Amino acid sequence: MRILSGIQPSGVAHIGNYFGAMRQHVALQDEGEGTYFIADYHSMTSLRDPAQRRDFVQEYVLDYLACGLDPKRAILYRQSDVPEVCELTWLLTTVTPMGLLQRAHSYKDKIAQGIQPDHGLFAYPVLMAADILQYNPDVVPVGQDQKQHLEMTRDIATKFNQAYDREVFKLPEPHILKDVAVVPGVDGQKMSKSYDNTLCMFWPQKKLKKAVMGIVTDSTPVEEPKSTDQTVFQLWSLFADEVEQEAMFAHAQRGGLGYGDVKKDLLKRMLEHFGPMREKRDELAKHPDEVEDVLADGARRAREISGPILAEAREAAGLGSGA
Ligand code: ATP
Ligand code: MG
Repeated sequence: MRILSGIQPSGVAHIGNYFGAMRQHVALQDEGEGTYFIADYHSMTSLRDPAQRRDFVQEYVLDYLACGLDPKRAILYRQSDVPEVCELTWLLTTVTPMGLLQRAHSYKDKIAQGIQPDHGLFAYPVLMAADILQYNPDVVPVGQDQKQHLEMTRDIATKFNQAYDREVFKLPEPHILKDVAVVPGVDGQKMSKSYDNTLCMFWPQKKLKKAVMGIVTDSTPVEEPKSTDQTVFQLWSLFADEVEQEAMFAHAQRGGLGYGDVKKDLLKRMLEHFGPMREKRDELAKHPDEVEDVLADGARRAREISGPILAEAREAAGLGSGA
């Protein structure tokens, strides 16, 4: 079974990325061949600083390895190390209806935020389709927010297969973890690198504490019952088992529970959860050459899989000499 997923180096990885993506990726490497990439081409739609892009890629690789990704089993590579994906993007662009892209939620959201769109932002789902289809993966693990992009990928694959009357591409299935579908940010919106509302696993303790203490809450006084669907409880629950959650929720409903105490306990749990990974990460960071070797090996292995599929797409479309 081939599993494929990518993550954009558009900022520092946060616990939404961890629960919604990275942790699942690590778990899935036991079930099939995981193929994971750091999507530096994608980050070009929002980030223009080249040095920062390189840094974020490095950080993400360290994060993945620290979180347990095993580069001997899974393939981990930098998207721009396999530039053939850009060719496939063009092949797919020519069969992608404008209307399909105009309906993309992420595009509409960014426009609503007042971002001046360029063509890259608009065409982003086609690059994502190429990322996926170049490996014909069985399963694509994503967060709820990416579900529509995957449906678009299926539509684009179908269009290509129909246009050239050949089953070049398989239709990939999404794999979404229900219980952590969307991790909220400290302001209650979806946690997102671009919303400045994140909690990051490997931030210095002081910075993390400040962010945790800043989580929005309502103004219910300590002694009164509290609504447990609030952001602070959702975040805390990520680090607690069911029995602990029941006890916490009962206390909240009884009254006498202060938000400050919930936040302190959340911070403690976060530091404990990510502590061993933080140590591993610090150790890996001392050996940048080894990290680069992991990426080079990943790109080589990725290309072995994507090469024949891209060749078939070219052949189906009548590109090249056909020899
Ligand atoms: P950006 O703001 O640049 O879009 P992001 O924080 O949304 O960044 P992405 O790089 O878009 O992160 O997403 C990487 C992976 O993490 C995707 O699989 C996505 O579904 C998942 N993910 C991102 N944010 C969350 C979240 N808040 N909860 C659960 N999963 C998330
Ligand atoms: Mg996103």
